[in-house]
Amino acid sequence: MIYLDNAATSPVFPHILEKLEHWNREFFANPNSVHPEGQKSRREIDRVRRFLSQVVSSGEENIIFVSGATEANNTVIKGLAERHKNKKRILISPIEHKSVLVPVKELVKKGLSVEFLKVDSEGVVDIDHLKERIDKDVLFVGVMHVNNETGVVQDVKVIGEICRSKGVPFFSDIVQSFGRLEVPYGYIDFFTTSGHKINAPKATGFMKISQEYPLHPLITGGGQEFGIRAGTENTPGIIAFGEAVKTWDENRQAFIDRFRELEKLFIGKLKEVIPDIKVVSEGKKVPYITTVLFPDVKGHDMVIALGRRGIAVSSGSACSSGSPMPSHVLTACGFSEDDALSGVRFSFGVDTDAAWLETAVEEIGEIYRKLSSFPF
Ligand code: PMP
Repeated sequence: MIYLDNAATSPVFPHILEKLEHWNREFFANPNSVHPEGQKSRREIDRVRRFLSQVVSSGEENIIFVSGATEANNTVIKGLAERHKNKKRILISPIEHKSVLVPVKELVKKGLSVEFLKVDSEGVVDIDHLKERIDKDVLFVGVMHVNNETGVVQDVKVIGEICRSKGVPFFSDIVQSFGRLEVPYGYIDFFTTSGHKINAPKATGFMKISQEYPLHPLITGGGQEFGIRAGTENTPGIIAFGEAVKTWDENRQAFIDRFRELEKLFIGKLKEVIPDIKVVSEGKKVPYITTVLFPDVKGHDMVIALGRRGIAVSSGSACSSGSPMPSHVLTACGFSEDDALSGVRFSFGVDTDAAWLETAVEEIGEIYRKLSSFPF
């Protein structure tokens, strides 16, 4: 299989897969137990927390292990709202992931108001609009670092500076940049990550919180994770997550350089084969995520046809694949419904190579000719 859907999820690094059984056997004990076996698990969690706190230059008390970014995004959004009930306005970008949009919508039903920051045709947030709309009554500003559909990158440093100058917490979903890009961590009060996007097992990850803006926990119980996320910690998953972060950290430049070469090759060849394609957010995006609009073709049909030929890609966001709705990200960028429905996302991972992409382009060309010549 040619797997070009790494923004949906990525395969676990082989060197991590090999050790998972060992970690499960060695560190099975509950890290909250006082006996030596339990404390052995606790020491591993502490070690990974310390490592992450160094990676993101923040105190260990700010690193909260979670089951992934959906939980983390819900925790930040609902946790801030529950704790700071006098703040009734939320400012977010319209291209956020559903795991941000839906919790915000729930808050709106409870009486809070949301304003969507303007984005340009590439999906870049209008900083002047943020400056106009922000004031100290805002509960939080939420802008993701890298969009999961288009790969567009936001200037989270500038956004963070504006928020700080107004005393408003800045929350950023950094799922699609964490590990792969240099992130200006110091400018983001709350950020959320997900292990399965960086070759760690599913249901791992952490969020970074801020002591300046206390949160009400979403999940309560045994008081684990500084009272912010109750539940027995996933020790083997946390260890595996730490290893994946370390691998990305050590190889970031090499991986990124490769993604750049692959992006150039892929887009270049695709434009030779189908000159009318549109690459969304071209020049403003990360090299490992590319959404292409294929004129007069339904992205969903292209995804199915490619799948039959052994090539895995997505249309719209993976989380809503199969739904006939045009992507909210593409419509927010101003694309018509038809254009938005013609999008296909190709996302690269550490195992993507040039030969895969050359095969993919050939297959895409053939499928495109068939699909676009349909009389209706
Ligand atoms: N945010 C973004 C930008 C994502 O791409 C995803 C995964 N589709 C999530 C949040 C949700 O992450 P998880 O699968 O860890 O819940």
